[in-house]
Amino acid sequence: MLRLSAHPSGRHFLQIPGPTNVPDRVLRAIDHGTIDHRGPEFGELGKSVLSGLKKLFRTESPVIIYPASGTGAWEAALVNALSANNLVLMAETGHFATLWKKMAVSLGLRVEFLPGDWRRAADPDVIEARLRADTAHEIKAVCIVHNETATGVTSDIPAVRKAINRASHPALLMVDTISSLGSIDYRHDEWGVDVTVAGSQKGMMLPPGLSFNAVSEKALAASQKSDLRRSYWDWHAMIAINPTGYFPYTPATNLLYGLHEALEMLFDEGLDTVFQRHKRHAEATRRAVRAWGLEILCADPDRYSPSLTAVMMPEGHSADAFRKIVLDHFNMSLGQGLSKVKDKVFRIGHLGDLNDLTVCGTLAGVEMGLALAGVPHQPGGTRAAMSYLTEKAEVRSR
Ligand code: PLP
Repeated sequence: MLRLSAHPSGRHFLQIPGPTNVPDRVLRAIDHGTIDHRGPEFGELGKSVLSGLKKLFRTESPVIIYPASGTGAWEAALVNALSANNLVLMAETGHFATLWKKMAVSLGLRVEFLPGDWRRAADPDVIEARLRADTAHEIKAVCIVHNETATGVTSDIPAVRKAINRASHPALLMVDTISSLGSIDYRHDEWGVDVTVAGSQKGMMLPPGLSFNAVSEKALAASQKSDLRRSYWDWHAMIAINPTGYFPYTPATNLLYGLHEALEMLFDEGLDTVFQRHKRHAEATRRAVRAWGLEILCADPDRYSPSLTAVMMPEGHSADAFRKIVLDHFNMSLGQGLSKVKDKVFRIGHLGDLNDLTVCGTLAGVEMGLALAGVPHQPGGTRAAMSYLTEKAEVRSR
């Protein structure tokens, strides 16, 4: 029997690493009568969001919008650019890299999966060595998850690009930015990425439902010769009509109104300011975790994620039981540990639409939850984060 509980007062704290909070401005923009997706009003909206996306991906190349979750954009990247039995090099950074790898195998690709311990980033030196050994250029693509949402580890994409260049290898570079775009500095053109995969529901501050491929000329040329079966995901049908602002099939019209608003918000704040904000909030969170005496899953401080922090539970304590206590008592959702780290870590999302007080409220909820769950820790993590945020306080311009 469905039991409806009384309305919990105050706002739910959605502090998972995506989907993230959707700002009221974006919700209001989505709240719009559905329009004719082949009429004149839509063409203007389509052109505007397609050109705004180029600014966000920092590219002059086409950005394709799919009415799909991020998984769809993963598939689109692979099926457009590659052929059956192609060899692909992927790095095991965590759960999402593993899912992308499984998808590649199920699509008929051969995958070499560089092993990882889920605590470190993709290693550019290992990638370079493997590419140098591939003198026959059998490897057709290197696929990297920029920010591994399961672990809170960010890989160094410019370093991976340099590794490919140093090996003088022609493989395409494909990058998953689902939990980095709009939160962490990212440059499709400057970093020489061939296909960037992204999703709407994290740094872009939208509900789930849109996903993206930014596609370099080299990737487009590869797609002319690739033979993996595709229809719905075909880039060319999109690219043929997108310059008019229209789509080959019914787009997610209302989400595109939201996208228009979200892009305006990101550009108004300034992308560099947005990235800086995420770094500050990530550092505040890590200071809290250290003050509690808990361990951060990411083992390499140079690769800490600005968009989320995965925290290891002390031996003998259940991360999921702790998260349930936090949800039940404080109406806050924290991210669960996924697959290999299930019940061993919890994840604090600090990406998207949040400010210093959202971060402090989140950390206070974690700290109170640790006490209620009987998890051994030192009190004072929230205080440590507050001190850091005070020291680095920023004036919010109006
Ligand atoms: N890649 C990364 C890095 C993700 O974080 C996610 C989802 O959280 C995905 C891929 C899959 O995207 P979706 O769940 O939107 O299909």
